[in-house]
Amino acid sequence: MMKSDVLVIGSNMIDLITYIDRMPVEGETVEAPDFQMGFGGKGANQAVAAARLGSKVSFISMVGNDSFGKQQLANFKSNSIDTTGVGVGSKSSGAAPIFVDPTSDNRILIIKGANNELTPAVLDNYIDLIQNTKIVVLQQEIPLETNYHAIDLANEFKIPVLLNPAPANKELDINHVSKVDFFSPNETELSTLTGMPTSNLDEIKRAASRMVTMGVKNIIVTLGSKGVLWVNNTNSELIPAIKVKAVDTTGAGDSFIGSFAHYYAQGEDIPVALKHANQYAAVTVTRKGTQKSYPTATELLSLTN
Ligand code: ADP
Repeated sequence: MMKSDVLVIGSNMIDLITYIDRMPVEGETVEAPDFQMGFGGKGANQAVAAARLGSKVSFISMVGNDSFGKQQLANFKSNSIDTTGVGVGSKSSGAAPIFVDPTSDNRILIIKGANNELTPAVLDNYIDLIQNTKIVVLQQEIPLETNYHAIDLANEFKIPVLLNPAPANKELDINHVSKVDFFSPNETELSTLTGMPTSNLDEIKRAASRMVTMGVKNIIVTLGSKGVLWVNNTNSELIPAIKVKAVDTTGAGDSFIGSFAHYYAQGEDIPVALKHANQYAAVTVTRKGTQKSYPTATELLSLTN
């Protein structure tokens, strides 16, 4: 039987990053100066962060029956992620063509592909993975019904659930959200879900408290360079961000979620796990790339000493 520290159920995508001088107009072909491929998808990013820190990570995800799918599988394995729960679908692998212009503004298309084939029924094949982990981590790049089923199964086995409601989805059902132990939106996602403003700390606290009254046990709002706000029934604590020179913040949210899951699974108390995750995410914004910027436990020690 496979036992893990962290079980991530979610997406994987191949980022196709094209650096452009300008967007072509209709019917036009334009040469672009540079291109880079990267491993992404919120689920995969969070799994990689937890695995690099030393957690035993299992991943339930779907890749396409194509060369990207094979590359994804190889990437999971090279990060020591257990791929028992990774299936091969009939659609293309998830992909994200990203166009970055000279001012660093970007335009992103998302093709979910095989990620949409991660249906509730698929989870029933991996009940033992859900039963034998310390925390289940979810995001929103797979069908909502699959997340609901994951929450129900984890509840049945009394396994804690962390839901990162990204990207925001207005359809998210509060009855299911109230059954998770950790709900971690950024301020924009919190506003979408509550319909409340979140443009300053007081407003964010009010919206987070509203979610607590709806039954969510712990709200963890990530606030970029302002840090993290943790609100529950008895506590409201702001953990300020570590002061660093930010170079590239892509994937910072995922590094925070994945590392929090790791520290929590190691048995750390919530405030300690939050402080460590805040530190881990701060290091990733000082380095370029998404998964590329996620340090291992050993690298982290040398970078923070
Ligand atoms: P998202 O990408 O999901 O919006 P955030 O931008 O809120 O996520 O970042 C997630 C976490 O990463 C923050 O809560 C913080 O811990 C860390 N972080 C992000 N930007 C910075 C920064 N400029 N300096 C230090 N830490 C940062």
